[in-house]
Amino acid sequence: MNYKIFTGSTNNVWKYVFTKEDMVAEAVLYQYQSFYKRTVICCSVMSGCPVGCTFCGTGAKFIRNLTSDEIVEQIDTVLRDKNLIKDINDKCEKLQFMFMSMGEPMLNWDEVEKAIIVLNKKYDQAELLLSTIGCDNDEVFKKIIDISKKIKKVGLQFSIHKSNDEARNKLIPFHKKMNLEKIRDAGIIWWTKTGRKPFLNYCVDGANNTKQDFINLTQIFSPVVFNFTFSVVCSKDENMKEAAFRNLDIIKEFQDKFLAKGYNVRMFDPAGQDDIGGGCGQLWYVQNWLKSHQK
Ligand code: SF4
Repeated sequence: MNYKIFTGSTNNVWKYVFTKEDMVAEAVLYQYQSFYKRTVICCSVMSGCPVGCTFCGTGAKFIRNLTSDEIVEQIDTVLRDKNLIKDINDKCEKLQFMFMSMGEPMLNWDEVEKAIIVLNKKYDQAELLLSTIGCDNDEVFKKIIDISKKIKKVGLQFSIHKSNDEARNKLIPFHKKMNLEKIRDAGIIWWTKTGRKPFLNYCVDGANNTKQDFINLTQIFSPVVFNFTFSVVCSKDENMKEAAFRNLDIIKEFQDKFLAKGYNVRMFDPAGQDDIGGGCGQLWYVQNWLKSHQK
């Protein structure tokens, strides 16, 4: 695959855009303190995406699934480019590969599963995080449980973003997805079978952090089973870059309520979202590629 690199102004985040004749994909590399302290790579599993989240820069355009080779190649290329490929696995204190840049892993499961197996062989210290909206497919979910039992480095995150199904259906219009109660039940099963807690990803947008949202979420999801990831909303519009930073204080305030209630929470560092579109759903370059490849 051809690729080009965009470097964030803070010099700790890089976006890699991969292209072939018939596809575009992107991966984002984050460095925390140093590459050997913590390295995170978010990679794509599809070119475009059929899920159609309203905040997402794919514009619901789906080009094709990526092959397992194309998924693995993103990780290898990023590490090779930074001269890390030989020793990152042994020397990095926290190495994380996340299937969350572009595409829905459950809709390309066979290739994602093959990529997980290859990546685990190559980089056996790396955590491998699956980030999904929770497609309503029992067969695939069972396979996720199976591989999560075999490979202890596999983690699971559900993107929920809203505290009730009506609002969530508007934001994530894909029909064949689990509702919040089914996500809860699936999360409990995954936790029971693996002994690890799934994460719930929640982008705080200023309208989904009310007292009622807190009540809804804490009633459905128990802190015994679930951890929360709170994130800013990424702007799909390149002309609204600064929007990514607007809600940091609101997010902190909201997450503190969950902390006080006994949840394990983390906040996604928004590095690179203001200048190179480093966050999930931004995909600025992808949008341009799609426009220029319209038939
Ligand atoms: S946010 Fe992720 S799942 Fe939603 S449409 Fe974009 S790429 Fe697909």
